[in-house]
Amino acid sequence: MKIAIIGVGSVGSAVATAVKNTGLAHEIVLYDRDGIRARAAAEDLGHASAFSYDIKITAVSNYRAIRGSDIVIVAAGANQKPGETRMDLLHKNTAVIQDIIPRVIDNVDPKNVKIIIVTNPLDVMVMLAQKLSKLPASRVIGTGTMLDSARFKIILSHQLGISTRSITSYVLGEHGDSSVVNWSSVSIGGIALDDFCKQSKISLPQTTRRTIEHRVKNAAYEIIQGRGATWDGIGGAVADLLHAIINDERRILTTSIVDGIGKNAVAMSLPRVVGERGVLMNLRSKMSAEESANLRKSGKIIRRNFDLI
Ligand code: NAD
Repeated sequence: MKIAIIGVGSVGSAVATAVKNTGLAHEIVLYDRDGIRARAAAEDLGHASAFSYDIKITAVSNYRAIRGSDIVIVAAGANQKPGETRMDLLHKNTAVIQDIIPRVIDNVDPKNVKIIIVTNPLDVMVMLAQKLSKLPASRVIGTGTMLDSARFKIILSHQLGISTRSITSYVLGEHGDSSVVNWSSVSIGGIALDDFCKQSKISLPQTTRRTIEHRVKNAAYEIIQGRGATWDGIGGAVADLLHAIINDERRILTTSIVDGIGKNAVAMSLPRVVGERGVLMNLRSKMSAEESANLRKSGKIIRRNFDLI
């Protein structure tokens, strides 16, 4: 399994470390328009690999060297500065995706390759990458709200005193400010949240739920305030997505792909079955009327921003 990572800044490096640690790839190639940065990252990661798995990690200076990649991960582009939203990156990162995707497509096998988009604003960049690549939507996959869903799960785990592995909890829609925390579909070991709270005599009133939502939706802003950028969480999300694809796990993950046709097409996160061929099925989770309305609004925001580019 050969994996190419385009963009080797904070996120690309964390993604490369996480990919290396999966032990699923035999080769990682790193491309960044800053060649010195890519070479330094390849060297550092190569040293780390002596303590884990045998893997070839190289920095490459042109796109021909990504030939033979089964999966290409795009983590290039501007990140949020304190106070900036993900959508504020729209125009800068449109140019980055327009630069990268045609060059990737010229050098990969279009029948098999999967492209994973990490660059923000995530959902709009997925739409743009899918359009430019002309690949089936099922193989241009954004990490979407995988990270937001993980943040929700971690907070619930602390609040309820239950392992994250027994919790199913989704954040849907935009990977951004209009994301929808999907309380209605939360299940704890297969038991609906309200029922679980009754049985365990835990109270989770509306005020607490609103605080949890706020923490989920503002996690990135707080991390950026404290350490300048976020990278470890997304590294974990990409590694999890790779496991699902490479091992054909058919796991349900809140990824973002283009869905719908023409003017109605939009990329946003829903629970989707992921396996070796990419996204295999789109699912609808249980939603309240308010959550459904907010999800529609979120889709409209993404589409409106795509139409701006
Ligand atoms: P960074 O500034 O540390 O690194 C960006 C890298 O991209 C730089 O090394 C730069 O040289 C490279 N680059 C820029 N344009 C390029 C091009 N045209 N071709 C090749 N390389 C190019 O930024 P970062 O913190 O690593 O963030 C990268 C992206 O990931 C941002 O858009 C950020 O918002 C996004 N991000 C997404 C998630 C998520 O959950 N999807 C989480 C965190 C960050």
